[in-house]
Amino acid sequence: MSVYLVAILGNFKAGGERLVLDSSGQLPEGVESGDGCCHPQIYQRSDLAGCPCCATTLRLELESLDIDLAAQAQDFLQTGQLPPPAAAPPQLLVNARILTMDASLPEADAMLIGAGRIVWVGASDRLPEDVDSGVERIDCRGRTLLPGFVEPHMHLAPIAALRGHENIGPFRYDTVDDALKRLKELTDPTTPHTWITARQFDPSLQEGPGVLTAAMLDDVSEVQPIFVYNASLHFGYCNSKALAIAGITSETPDPPGSGFGRTANGTPNGVLKGGAAMAMVARHNSALRETNLIDACLDVFRHANEVGFTTVCDQGTGSMQGAKELALLQALRDSNQMTARYRYSLINTLAARWDETDVAFGQGDEWLRAAGWKIVSDGSNQGLTGLQREPFLNDDSTGIAYIEPQALNAAVAHRLRQGWPVVVHANGDLAIDRVLGAFEAARAEGLDPAAQRCRIEHCSILHDEQVARIAELGLSPSFLIGHVYYWGKAFRDEVFGEAKASLLDRTAACEAQGIRWTLHSDEPVTEMDPLRCIQNAVTRAMWKAPGEVLADDERISVEAALRSMTIDAAWQCHSDHEIGSLEVGKFADFVVLSADPRAVAETEIGGIDVLETWVGGNRVYTQS
Ligand SMILES: [Zn+2]
Ligand SMILES: [Zn+2]
Repeated sequence: MSVYLVAILGNFKAGGERLVLDSSGQLPEGVESGDGCCHPQIYQRSDLAGCPCCATTLRLELESLDIDLAAQAQDFLQTGQLPPPAAAPPQLLVNARILTMDASLPEADAMLIGAGRIVWVGASDRLPEDVDSGVERIDCRGRTLLPGFVEPHMHLAPIAALRGHENIGPFRYDTVDDALKRLKELTDPTTPHTWITARQFDPSLQEGPGVLTAAMLDDVSEVQPIFVYNASLHFGYCNSKALAIAGITSETPDPPGSGFGRTANGTPNGVLKGGAAMAMVARHNSALRETNLIDACLDVFRHANEVGFTTVCDQGTGSMQGAKELALLQALRDSNQMTARYRYSLINTLAARWDETDVAFGQGDEWLRAAGWKIVSDGSNQGLTGLQREPFLNDDSTGIAYIEPQALNAAVAHRLRQGWPVVVHANGDLAIDRVLGAFEAARAEGLDPAAQRCRIEHCSILHDEQVARIAELGLSPSFLIGHVYYWGKAFRDEVFGEAKASLLDRTAACEAQGIRWTLHSDEPVTEMDPLRCIQNAVTRAMWKAPGEVLADDERISVEAALRSMTIDAAWQCHSDHEIGSLEVGKFADFVVLSADPRAVAETEIGGIDVLETWVGGNRVYTQS
C-alpha cells in the first residue's frame, strides 16, 4: 500500500485523530442538521478525501465574518451593472471544420450568425442566396469549430470564495514537500499581517504526511499567519501564528460538531476538523471580508471560457448562504457581465429553507436558470465513505449513507411531484441500489423520472444489472471521469481490487444500452477542463500507473465523448433547446480549437488549444 493511502487509513484508524461527536453518531444539541455537514459521521471517519458537494465550511465562515451575500449583491449592482450587450452585426464564418453535434447535419464548413443566434449552417457552396454581401466574413483558416462545451456538474460558490487561495494541490505539486515549498515562496517577512492562504491539499494524491500540522507550517513562516484547506473542504490546517491570532489554546474547548487536532497534552496542533473549527480561525483573515464574491464568480466564468465552456451547471446551490445565494445569482445576471450561461441545482440539505421561497424548476432565462434538485446519498469512494455492498479492500467498513432510504424515497418522490428534475449523488454500489430503488418507488406512484431527465451523479461503481435498471428507468448518469485518471490506481490497488475497480465510470456499458450519459469535473474536486475529461474517457489511462489502462472495454470513441460534453450535457441541464449543438435558432455559443479532437492521437486531445470562445455571438475569449 502506498504511503498516501496508509496516511489516510492511519487517520481513520487512530482513535486520537477521530472526532467522535457522541456514541450514537448524533449531532450535539444546538447544531442544526446540515450545519456541520451532510452527515456527522463524516467527521468520525475523518474523511480527508471527501467530496466538497456538502461542505458547509464556507457558510460558517461567511456567517462568522458577517458577510451577507444579498447585501453584497445589491452593492455590486450599484456600481457594476452594464447595459445589456449590443447584438453583434451578422457574421459569416467560412472555411471552418464545423462539428455541429446535430445528427441531421454532423459537419459543415460555414455558419451565419446574427442577433446572438445561428441563422444558417451548412456547406459554403450552398450559402443562402439572400446572404447580404455586407455581412462580415470571418475566415476560420480550416480550424475546428464545436458547440461550446457544457459542464454539467461543478460548484461555483467554493471555487469563487477560494479564488484568492493558492492552489497547492496534487495537480500542481506531487508531494507535500513541494506544496510547502510553494507556500514558502509566497512568504514576505515585511508584511507580517498578511495571511498566506491555500487550498486543495490532498493526502490521497500527494505523497507525504496525511495532515499539515502547525509545526510543519511554522517552518514555512512563524511571522505570517497561514491557513490551508484540505481539498474536501472538511478540514483545514493552520500555523501557530494563526492559532495565536484566533486565541486558540489548550483551554479552548472544541466547538460543537467540530474540533481541533491536539497533541498528547491537549495543545491544538493546527489541524482544524470541520466547519466551526475552521471558521474560528479563518474569520480573523480580513482579506476574506474584502473578497467580492460576485467579481470572483465572474472570474470563474472567464476561466471556464478559457478552457472552452460556454455553460456551467452548479450542483449544490445554497450551501453557502441558502436562499441569499439566489440574490447573488440574480445580481450576476442583472450585471450583464456574465460570459458563461449558468444552470443550478438546489441542495436538499436546506430543503426547509427553499420551501420558504418561491423558487421553482425552470425559473430564469437563458443566462441563469434553476435546473435541478440535488440530493447527496453517500460519501466518496476515495475517502472510503462511498456506500458499498461489500467492505473495502483494506478496510472492514462499507462506507456511509448520508440519507436513509426512507428519507431518500420521500425526498425523490416529493420533489418529482413538485416538478423538479432530481439529481442524486451516489458513488458506492449500495448507494446506487438505493437511488434506483427510490426512482422505482416514485415510478410506482405514477411519477416519471425519465421525462424529468433525472440524473445519478458520479454513478461511480455500476454492476451490469444496475446499468440495465438505469436504462429501464430512463435515468441519466454523469461520470466524474477524473476518478479513472487521478485515483484509478488507488481504486484498483488499495480501495476496491481489480474486479470492482473495473466497474468504475462505465461509459461504454451505458453507451451500449442507449443510456444518455455525460462527463464532469466536480470542480474543485478536479479542474474544469472538457478536453482533459474527453481524453480521460477515451484513453482510461491512470496518472499513477503510466502505460496502464483501467477497464479497457469501457473506453469510448472521441465522437461519443464530444457528444457527452456538448449536446448531452445541455440535455441533462434542460437546455438542449437553446444550446449544445450548432443548429439554426440556437444561441451562437461555440469554440474554435487548434485541432480536430478526432484527428489527433488520443493522448494529445487534452493538449488541444482553445483559441476562441463565443457566447451569444460575442467573442468572450481569445487565446493571447
Ligand atoms: Zn458529489
Ligand atoms: Zn459535486
